[in-house]
Amino acid sequence: MSGNWQRRWQPLLQQWVMISARSAARPWSGAVPSRNVSTAASHDPDCYLCPRVVRANGTHNPNYAGAYAFDNDFPALSFEAPGAAADEDSAWQTRTAPAHGQCRVLCWSERHDATLASLSTTEMRAVAKLWQAEYKRLSETPGIANVLIFENKGVEIGVSNLHPHGQIYASSFLTDTASRMREAQCQHAQNNNNESLLISLLNDAHTQEHLVVEENTYFSVIVPFAARFAYETWIVPHRHVASLSDMDDEELQELADVYQRQVRRYDLLFQRSAPNITLLHNAPCNEEESALNKQCCFHLAFHPPLRDAEKLKYLAGFESGSNNIVNPVQPEIAAEQLRAIDLQEWQP
Ligand SMILES: [Zn+2]
Repeated sequence: MSGNWQRRWQPLLQQWVMISARSAARPWSGAVPSRNVSTAASHDPDCYLCPRVVRANGTHNPNYAGAYAFDNDFPALSFEAPGAAADEDSAWQTRTAPAHGQCRVLCWSERHDATLASLSTTEMRAVAKLWQAEYKRLSETPGIANVLIFENKGVEIGVSNLHPHGQIYASSFLTDTASRMREAQCQHAQNNNNESLLISLLNDAHTQEHLVVEENTYFSVIVPFAARFAYETWIVPHRHVASLSDMDDEELQELADVYQRQVRRYDLLFQRSAPNITLLHNAPCNEEESALNKQCCFHLAFHPPLRDAEKLKYLAGFESGSNNIVNPVQPEIAAEQLRAIDLQEWQP
């Protein structure tokens, strides 16, 4: 299947992605020595995420060990926002709605110099337990419609604090992406005898033959057919589970293990502690639309900002002006390269 001058349909987002892999289709000669090797200390008294420090708002962090969550001191969403609902009656020029919700910070470790890749299996599984507990609590909080857990990692994408951490935005509204994904999955189920879009995508013959990076008991890692980013991957469950809340302990543990292996693969692919944007897509959780929400299937998406070990991928002129993303790496070749990585070679 040619990887050049092709548009591919991304069924979850209901949009076309352009694949333009003419140059990147060549196998990478690759190995660039790692450059941003962490020289950080295991504790930084100037880091507001480290144990025992005093944060900007005067709060003392406890002497925590392992995964730890707290409220974001500079939240983008707040229940203190004025206004009860969208102001539908106001003029379109000045239409507003409150950004209600809660923002959380999740430290993966007390160690300032750790990454998800460097955690022990037990520590990594504790991180997954924290995701589940946070998702469960926030999704059951009145007024919350959507809970997005994510990690921004790497100075390359402007992350100023290197302490290993993720965030949660729990909002009173569905994000644009959550709304598109739910609509697509509901439509698909309705038109296909209640079939799960994501499970069907995973089991598709082309995916199985060309796009699987690894397959386990409960989860597989795949490159999506219409990947929007070079080396984009998804961790997809083998059964339709709407959210982390619906996973049992065994599934959650495997999710943690698979996630960590995929992070290590990126480190090996890009020859450094690789920058990444990682998103845990759980079903929306507003009670009044639970029939729609249960059609959504959990998946975890990696959006690597690098197109190869040397180059960052910018959403420049064409893409920022058109909202049509161009992926410079053919997804089948990305899957092949990721599959070929020997995880034994990963070192902290
Ligand atoms: Zn720190």
